[in-house]
Amino acid sequence: MELVHVSPTSLESLARDLEANGTPIGAEKSEIVNITACPGSDRCRFAMIDSISLARTLDEKFFGKEMPVKFRIAISSCPNSCVSERLNEIGITGVVRPYRVPGTCTGCGTCV
Ligand code: SF4
Repeated sequence: MELVHVSPTSLESLARDLEANGTPIGAEKSEIVNITACPGSDRCRFAMIDSISLARTLDEKFFGKEMPVKFRIAISSCPNSCVSERLNEIGITGVVRPYRVPGTCTGCGTCV
């Protein structure tokens, strides 16, 4: 969640209120700070994976885990990449198998 247009004079009291109601704050720590997903199969006709359920699972397991640097995970449910997942430390893109140009298979057997 991102709060915009907050007066700098209100930041401390806002942080206190968020901590008091159990909302974790801070996106600049050396930990997993952000796990985002596009609307995915819930609300987008291009979706190929359930990005929101995957984000929830990752959030429950990894949010706040200590890391050497600030660490973000993003999931787009199709290659349109609405959450710019490739600009995150881990980016997941939903695709349909097989994801290749028809007729270009070399028969190496790795995709079987
Ligand atoms: S990344 Fe794809 S599935 Fe997700 S919102 Fe964008 S177009 Fe829809």
